[in-house]
Amino acid sequence: MNPGADADPAEAVRDRHFMRIAIDQAHNAWALGEVPVGAVVVRAGKVLATGFNHPVGTSDPTAHAEIRALRAAAELVGNYRLTECDLYVTLEPCAMCAGAIQHARIRRVVFGATDPKTGAAGSVVDLFAEPRLNHHASLLGGVEADACGALLREFFADRRRELAAQRARDEEMARLATDPRLRGIEVRFDDEEPAAPE
Ligand SMILES: [Zn+2]
Repeated sequence: MNPGADADPAEAVRDRHFMRIAIDQAHNAWALGEVPVGAVVVRAGKVLATGFNHPVGTSDPTAHAEIRALRAAAELVGNYRLTECDLYVTLEPCAMCAGAIQHARIRRVVFGATDPKTGAAGSVVDLFAEPRLNHHASLLGGVEADACGALLREFFADRRRELAAQRARDEEMARLATDPRLRGIEVRFDDEEPAAPE
């Protein structure tokens, strides 16, 4: 049984509210061409810090939404221990983030969509249920899961479309380059910048 279901209606409303803020953060990642994952750290019912996935733009493999939100929160409170804080994230945390969450002593983790490839909260492994690890966080998954998952699906569908268009374009350019009737003629697509004069 889902431990969060029907447990406390006010808490369920609160969880959806903060998850929507995490979804806004995921949109920030998408706007920069990054896989759309967002996170917020909440303390005493208020957003303390936010983060979005940004490893490509920052050349930083640790720049996941959760890590960025945890860093910002810890800096704000001047303590790496965030014992009174809850973390909301749109995607199931990976092993790295699960580790950081445990080091930060986060009280409660709420995530949206599951991640069958790298999820460390039950999908691939469950580091939150591992009795040999000194963990503190309670866990709830599936909050606004449809919206969180749809965002990721749309992002990857978009990316596949872009790649397919680029491939078609490259193939067409290669074909034109070998067309003897076009020898000596410069071919350019309409949406390309004109070549700088030499
Ligand atoms: Zn992660």
